[in-house]
Amino acid sequence: MENKLKNELFHLYPKLEKIKNRDTVFWENTKRMKKASTTLFSIEEVDDAEETLKRFSSYLINAFPELVESKGLIESSIQQIDEMKLALEKEFRISVPGQIFLKCDHALPISGSIKARGGIYEVLKHAERLAIANGKLKVDDDYAVFATEELRTFFQQYTIAVGSTGNLGLSIGIMGKKLGFNVVVHMSSDAKEWKKALLRAKGATVIEYKADYSVAVEQGRQEASQNPMCHFIDDENSKDLFAGYAVAAKRLKVQLQEANIQVDDAHPLFVYLPCGVGGGPGGVAYGLRELFGEHVHILFAEPTASPCMTIGLMTGLHDEISVEDIGLDNKTEADGLAVGRASKFVGKVMETYISGCYTVKDEELFTSLGLAMESEDLFLEPSAHAGMFGPIQLMTNGRDYLEKHHVLDKMEQATHLVWATGGSMVPQEMREEYFKKLVR
Ligand SMILES: *Cc1c(COP(=O)(O)O)cnc(C)c1O
Repeated sequence: MENKLKNELFHLYPKLEKIKNRDTVFWENTKRMKKASTTLFSIEEVDDAEETLKRFSSYLINAFPELVESKGLIESSIQQIDEMKLALEKEFRISVPGQIFLKCDHALPISGSIKARGGIYEVLKHAERLAIANGKLKVDDDYAVFATEELRTFFQQYTIAVGSTGNLGLSIGIMGKKLGFNVVVHMSSDAKEWKKALLRAKGATVIEYKADYSVAVEQGRQEASQNPMCHFIDDENSKDLFAGYAVAAKRLKVQLQEANIQVDDAHPLFVYLPCGVGGGPGGVAYGLRELFGEHVHILFAEPTASPCMTIGLMTGLHDEISVEDIGLDNKTEADGLAVGRASKFVGKVMETYISGCYTVKDEELFTSLGLAMESEDLFLEPSAHAGMFGPIQLMTNGRDYLEKHHVLDKMEQATHLVWATGGSMVPQEMREEYFKKLVR
């Protein structure tokens, strides 16, 4: 980026100075609309994703016995975290009106992170398309045929490639290998060793880069484009991934009803979503706002070293600005969020949907990790803890927002939903490493 443009940006958006200095910020999206809309994506794609996942349920039960109980549904529960709420309030000396719930995507079956939504959906959709086009399947067949040797052998001639900081690669790798595909995962330098080892053990090819996520994705895209038998799962642009993530919203609506949690004019819902390139949180945000309209308020959470979505939305430059452009190094323990340049597709869709973004320091992620272990015996990976600061950030820096949207006086009836995006598959040795970093 040119220096002249850079100087102009710092002049136009004074918060950039704070961001550059690695201070935490709360940025309000003044373009949010009560009735959000976009021309780039439609709710039918979410309905299609939900239907496709249903068609695959008999196969999924067959391939992953852990899914028998849920009848092939890849879903996580919601859980009230009263003890964590108290611990946060005490630690940060602020009271948070309303109740706090956790969306337990860290415990999603198959791959233990939010990527088990979008990632697995895109792989399944691709497999279905190939099988139908080659006469191996009709839409009203029992999809358990995907577990047969014939189909597994058929998929061996095809490759699926993806660029990832870790969890997306894990989802794609586990699902792709199960179906019989060749899988190539291009891993950024942030990716944890155990994720690479697990993928190799499943038979995926892991290519490591010394560079960050954007480079790994670009290399993957380039290499895949040379091979007509290869499908590249494009974390920066894929509508299928986005649709798969958005399915969460439809399921959450049912879960909230079952738990007697109201979402309406008198009962606002605040949802805090850790954000990397944007697809996961973006899909969920899109779905929730389509279903709950103005009564749901969405905040994205990013590390202070990697606030790519915050600066992309703030400046309106989306993928034309990177965190390096403003002097940040994109180095964070929140490996799932170590993304320096946001998805333009997601950023543009989100313009009228989300309420804003905030940033969190790595030390705070570990403070939260310790509090959750102590108070709830709950382990989440550092990335997922970015969401825990939502209620604190909102009550500290979001009062203007709450007033403007006429919800400040309704906060006692509010529900805060922290989206726990990953962690259940983190091995014990790695957890111990994290515990060593807890400063108490
Ligand atoms: C990938 C990931 C996110 C964010 O998803 P994006 O689609 O990259 O924005 C958040 N938390 C965890 C644990 C992740 O792996």
